[in-house]
Amino acid sequence: MLSIVIPIYNEQDNIPLLYESLVAALEPLGQSFEVVLVNDGSADQSERILMELAGKDQRVKIINFRRNFGQTAAMMAGIDYAVGDIIIPMDGDMQNDPADIPQLLAKLDEGYDVVSGWRRDRKDHKLKRTLPSRLANYLISKISGIHLHDYGCSLKAYRRQVIKGIKLYGEMHRFVPIYATWQGAKVTEIPVTHRERMHGSSKYGLERVLKVVLDLVVVKFLAQYSNKPIYVFGGFGLICIGISIMAGLLAVYLKLVYKTSFILTPLPLLVVMSFITGIMSILMGLLAEIIMRTYYESQSKPVYLIKNILNINDKP
Ligand code: UDP
Ligand code: MG
Repeated sequence: MLSIVIPIYNEQDNIPLLYESLVAALEPLGQSFEVVLVNDGSADQSERILMELAGKDQRVKIINFRRNFGQTAAMMAGIDYAVGDIIIPMDGDMQNDPADIPQLLAKLDEGYDVVSGWRRDRKDHKLKRTLPSRLANYLISKISGIHLHDYGCSLKAYRRQVIKGIKLYGEMHRFVPIYATWQGAKVTEIPVTHRERMHGSSKYGLERVLKVVLDLVVVKFLAQYSNKPIYVFGGFGLICIGISIMAGLLAVYLKLVYKTSFILTPLPLLVVMSFITGIMSILMGLLAEIIMRTYYESQSKPVYLIKNILNINDKP
């Protein structure tokens, strides 16, 4: 079973077209499917149109939010309620093309766990959208070590195991392929069609790039150091203390060799500042270690992920 997950925020003119093109793309596949539409607190007629659709077609499932929670939250809800073993999120504004879905599925069949869409010929504002996103994609691929051209493309296909249970915050839906790879999934990408928005308007501007970059820092930290936070805090702390010691030695050297008074250089200030910063950072690292242990142990989250087990029946 396929689950198509679509966040909807003020897309009244797009919904009927979207539904038609989805049905046209999915019915020939001969697989059962559901379309989970998450209405993210739309203020236009979207809700009414969605309800009508669901009344006519049992495969259409609707989740109505009480207010606008954002695209990531809407996608998260859709994934939580989806029952398919393949989950395909996409935008509800007709910029993605459901006709690409068969290609995504074919790629999954080759043995991949995640297939990401790549809007190679992107139809958005050059200066405001396409360029900043190029830069963001470059950064993400450098920092994460997972090389995709277009993290921001909503149209992706996931095997259920790699995406269920994942928690998405902020702008993080775009990082799912990264999470998935870090958990051992096989990820690839294929070019997909991207169309201009015909109805309604985009909900985003330039400020999203900053959010994405900040989220990236969090993702990187959580993924690589969340069970060893002291390595980050402590590492930074040790560097600060190193700087402090060097500044101190330099001050003493200047004093002994050139008779420079301590108060003539800013070095003593540097000694004290970086020493305090270093010690504080190490202490914060210890605090983070305690928090981390509470995090894992309170939810009895294991620090490992198992693919499968043979000939063992009892849970530990
Ligand atoms: N969307 C949403 N909640 C929001 C903003 C957007 O559910 O707060 C939906 C929107 O209806 C669309 C998708 O997320 O289906 C992508 O939004 P948009 O087209 O504005 O983003 P862009 O394509 O400009 O990046
Ligand atoms: Mg769009």
